[in-house]
Amino acid sequence: MTMKLVIAGGGISALSLLKTLSLASEMKTLISEVVVYAPYGLGYAPNFFNQPQSSLCNTSVGVMSLVHHLPDQYYNWLTNNGFLYEVSDFTPRSLYGRFLREEAFHIIKTFKSLGISLVIINEALASFECLDDKVQCFSQGGIRQCDYLVIATGHQDRVSPTNNYLFYPEHQEQIMTASFEEQRVLVLGSRLSSVDAILLLKNKPMSQVDVASRSANFPAVRKKLLGTEPKVLNADQILNDARCSGVSVYMQFIQAMNEEVDCYFDGTINITYEDPLKQLNLDIENVIKDNVGWEDTLDNIMSNLNSLWCYFSEGERSLFHEQYSDFIKRYLYAFPLKNAQQLKDTLEKFNSSIFAADSNHIYVDNHGQFLLNSSTYDYIIDATGCHKMPIFQQEGTYTINKPGCDDNITQTKFNVQGQNKVYVTGSIRTYLPVVNYVKEITHFNQELVLDLFKKIKNTCIV
Ligand SMILES: Cc1cc2nc3c(=O)[nH]c(=O)nc-3n(C[C@H](O)[C@H](O)[C@H](O)COP(=O)(O)OP(=O)(O)OC[C@H]3O[C@@H](n4cnc5c(N)ncnc54)[C@H](O)[C@@H]3O)c2cc1C
Repeated sequence: MTMKLVIAGGGISALSLLKTLSLASEMKTLISEVVVYAPYGLGYAPNFFNQPQSSLCNTSVGVMSLVHHLPDQYYNWLTNNGFLYEVSDFTPRSLYGRFLREEAFHIIKTFKSLGISLVIINEALASFECLDDKVQCFSQGGIRQCDYLVIATGHQDRVSPTNNYLFYPEHQEQIMTASFEEQRVLVLGSRLSSVDAILLLKNKPMSQVDVASRSANFPAVRKKLLGTEPKVLNADQILNDARCSGVSVYMQFIQAMNEEVDCYFDGTINITYEDPLKQLNLDIENVIKDNVGWEDTLDNIMSNLNSLWCYFSEGERSLFHEQYSDFIKRYLYAFPLKNAQQLKDTLEKFNSSIFAADSNHIYVDNHGQFLLNSSTYDYIIDATGCHKMPIFQQEGTYTINKPGCDDNITQTKFNVQGQNKVYVTGSIRTYLPVVNYVKEITHFNQELVLDLFKKIKNTCIV
């Protein structure tokens, strides 16, 4: 007996899953058909397409493989194509996009050679229902049944832009093609999306670029991200220790996290200057002097946090936010030196102001211009982060991407609550949306594939 699998989404997590499946020896005997709902085609990951050559990935070559047990996959692809990068280098985003497109092509060819049907449907999966032993998938084009469904639909697109209120990354192309000549632009947000958005503006003939965010601080600058294994953090060990000692998983995690930071960290984590530009300069100097030694620590913290989040009580989750969110925001979102230098140059070129304010403080006047404090802007680029794509349950039907629904029942859960035929992977799964880097997605997909094959084998024996 072989099984039929449906994957919703054609981005990084779907590609990584398909590639991992195609390399597994069980695949040929256990799976007969894979259907992928991919509205924009297989291999479409919005953050890596149509980007200027100067826009670099936030993670290094060595952690961008689509397959967890083949960490050199991206590096080898670069080398074979004559691109001379080291594993610690940051490549242009568009180059990674090219790699993704080629991978999509190879995956389709591999499935063909294995004799397994791979059907790509250029439609969005709208909803699904779990029947006794099947999952029923609904899209505009009709209904499909499968044995297992994997949801890999990424973040929710934010809707309702206007001509002069744009979102990043959703309106990346519009931002790139618009000239903004003589215009005043306000970028909202100061994390990775806003850094990327500001870099797109650096050569435009604008009269002003300012930045407003709640924290008015950019993330720390990182030298590289190499995927170093944690020394102390280990989710299984933490769960086991908590069980044996009777201490809560939360306390056990906090202890391990602090020990992990102590093992690697070699500098000050505090912000020295209130002025964000001065702080950015200091961070750049520090990285150039090479005294920052924690590159991978925060990513290791986050992947363990994602695995253990479901064991924390509501009170513990709030406590975590209260105590650690500033630290996490600054270091988790750390970005590469070259991007930091370009950001600094752009902000200096436009003599930019960086305000502590959020979108609630902005007013629109009678001429459609935006007002913040005493400044007026012609355009806003909202780069305050993608929203999680909610899966909404009502009477047995799960709706994907329901407008206006903030409740995300999938958060940090391996399977959709109460269901064992539906998996959730990629950025839709994790606690902090933007920073579930490719490395973490591939790790999770490896576990997903093992679990899926185990279930299919058990079903076959029954
Ligand atoms: C600005 C920014 C910069 C980033 N930079 C990096 C980086 O440098 N390095 C790194 O490792 N990570 C980076 N990330 C994170 C990384 O891009 C994401 O973690 C990754 O793209 C998530 O993969 P995904 O497959 O879950 O989502 P995506 O890659 O977004 O793919 C989701 C796919 O699902 C499709 N889809 C949506 N709805 C439906 C539906 N209902 N049915 C079917 N298909 C649907 C979409 O069209 C899309 O193709 C960045 C993220 C952002 C926002």
